[in-house]
Amino acid sequence: MSKLVIVGTVAFDAIETPFGKTDKILGGAATYIGLSASNFNVDSAAVSIVGGDFPQDYLDLLENRNIDIEGIEIVKDGKTFFWSGKYHNDMNSRDTLVTELNVLEHFNPKVPESYQDADVVMLGNLHPAVQQGVLDQMTKKPKLAILDTMNFWMDIALDDLLSVIKNVDVITINDEEARQLSGEYSLVVAARKIHEMGPKYVVIKKGEHGALLFHNGNVFYAPALPLEEVFDPTGAGDTFAGGFAGYLAKTGDYSFENMKTAVIYGSTLASFCVEKFGTERMQNLTDKEIYKRLDQFKSLTQFDIELT
Ligand code: AMP
Repeated sequence: MSKLVIVGTVAFDAIETPFGKTDKILGGAATYIGLSASNFNVDSAAVSIVGGDFPQDYLDLLENRNIDIEGIEIVKDGKTFFWSGKYHNDMNSRDTLVTELNVLEHFNPKVPESYQDADVVMLGNLHPAVQQGVLDQMTKKPKLAILDTMNFWMDIALDDLLSVIKNVDVITINDEEARQLSGEYSLVVAARKIHEMGPKYVVIKKGEHGALLFHNGNVFYAPALPLEEVFDPTGAGDTFAGGFAGYLAKTGDYSFENMKTAVIYGSTLASFCVEKFGTERMQNLTDKEIYKRLDQFKSLTQFDIELT
């Protein structure tokens, strides 16, 4: 079975959307990526750090989805990373209200020995030096290294970010961040500039407007499923990345053609994530539900046209 290493935050989130507000609930990039990737038959391990305030129930929840948590360090007298965000009425944009790094400030990631030869490494959102630290521990070059990041790290650790970006095959990034990273407004030009920074594949996520995959002058576009209920977009980007990475790890085919299908899986999983607050919808997702939604996706995007 393929092995997948996931690094990212395991966090407390407090979220406010036009539909409601939560106190500290389970969140974090590695959490969403792990839950999403757990829908594929791969061995996955999360590498992260939490404080002594992090409930055992949350760790159990990850373990129950078959995510190896040996690489999640627990600092007994430390506090877990905390993020708080408020969504605007369009639900496509948000303001970060609080980012408390806490234990993340002095995090030295440790990839479990049995995962140091993993096929796929998913570098989820956290400090780029930590992302590089994970790559450095791999005893064999992964078949695929994917990196996700956000404006926060561009603002405070751009040099570290540019240096880890050089070492990955795929970057997944949202449209605003792609513009910030490249200094270009056009996403096509932005993707080209980001290619030049290292990654052969660039995925630009556009929230409810889907995702674009760029490679060698080719572009593939997958819309997001139009949904009746969108309660909380938090984690949608990470869930997308988890589905993308999980599918590729499962199939072991890292071609552009297969990445198109991976983008569809990523979008499908993200469509579930936004239907409930936090990780709730991702905790008990079944294969049957995923299959049904993939089918909806197919009919949404398929059409016949005769080009003469
Ligand atoms: P997304 O909505 O996909 O961008 O991911 C939201 C998740 O990212 C939340 O669960 C947060 O805990 C986590 N998060 C927010 N800010 C950061 C940050 N600066 N670094 C790492 N993770 C973050």
